[in-house]
Amino acid sequence: MNHDVAVLIGRFQPFHAGHFSLIASALDRAERLLLLLGSHRCAPDTRNPWSSEERERMIRASLPADWQRRLEVIPIRDHLYSDNLWLAEVQQKVLAATDEEDRVLLVGHRKDRSSYYLDLFPQWDFQDVPLNSDVHSTTIRQAYFSGADDSQWASHVPEAVRAFLTDYRETGRYRWLRQEADYIAGYRQLWSVAPYPPTFVTTDAVVVQSGHVLVVRRRVRPGQGLIALPGGYLNQKEMVVEGMLRELREETGLKVPKPVLEGSIADRHVFDAPGRSQRGRVITHAFLIQLKGGVLPSVRGGDDAEKAFWMPLADIYAHEDTFFEDHIQIIQHFISRI
Ligand code: NAD
Repeated sequence: MNHDVAVLIGRFQPFHAGHFSLIASALDRAERLLLLLGSHRCAPDTRNPWSSEERERMIRASLPADWQRRLEVIPIRDHLYSDNLWLAEVQQKVLAATDEEDRVLLVGHRKDRSSYYLDLFPQWDFQDVPLNSDVHSTTIRQAYFSGADDSQWASHVPEAVRAFLTDYRETGRYRWLRQEADYIAGYRQLWSVAPYPPTFVTTDAVVVQSGHVLVVRRRVRPGQGLIALPGGYLNQKEMVVEGMLRELREETGLKVPKPVLEGSIADRHVFDAPGRSQRGRVITHAFLIQLKGGVLPSVRGGDDAEKAFWMPLADIYAHEDTFFEDHIQIIQHFISRI
């Protein structure tokens, strides 16, 4: 063993035979393994269906007892709009779990462009582990959430993961994810006849007053029941600001006069992470509307919003994993500037 500590970064949605071979390779080369469990507390969707706790349970149950003792699971949040913040969190967590003289080895497989992050750790040695057969989490999830026969996915995952996924099919959360998957598949099918893959433009409003942010609960799919910013698709004949104000008023019934809302726009920013929406390429123009203090204006849900309400800023962290797509990161972007 040439290294004291191995680091393995991944989402493991779900943990499969390829991931197992990465762990085997890591524990062959280092005494301890820090498994950095990515996308911690992000919004549940068909790409990230299982919580960190559920993923850790699946992983540990798949490993021999000796490996489990040598393994530490460390959840890491995504910072979709700042690799530097993400890197700082990874560095910090690894630093806290190692000694200064430890020799660290990063283990991973350069699978495609999404593996670029493996090249961002020049301070550690790197072990590129070859692809273990043609096993992919995406293929497993697609088969599992389309209700395909078990034979389509079960042989690619360890026995303990198979048992977990079989039981999970009986939960309300599985039924919700299955409906989300059906909706997304139907949506993509509708657009599949377009000559080019479409790029959609949406708007979102981050209305803040006296330490509260105005949010809605989604009535529609995708993300039905999740908390979101008031917003929606831009119409063909409106300016981005107009679209934002229209959606804001339709979904929240906010009674503040339009000129006051317009005059309270304190900032705007485009959020364009290619993977931010399961619907396809969706670019959103978000606006910060900072209202003056005082009694919070009354609001009520309308249109695509089942409910509209003012959420204390402290609560956004408690409700982090119930926020739709990247909306929590949009809020964080603006409130860090207020
Ligand atoms: P993953 O679970 O898809 O893969 C984990 C590892 O297993 C990868 O090295 C992958 O190449 C490897 N692997 C997959 N299939 C394999 C097979 N059949 N055989 C051998 N190896 C195989 O995880 P991921 O999506 O690569 O995880 C990266 C995490 O880092 C995510 O949570 C992502 O959000 C996070 N991240 C965040 C930021 C940011 O927030 N700015 C930036 C980069 C990465």
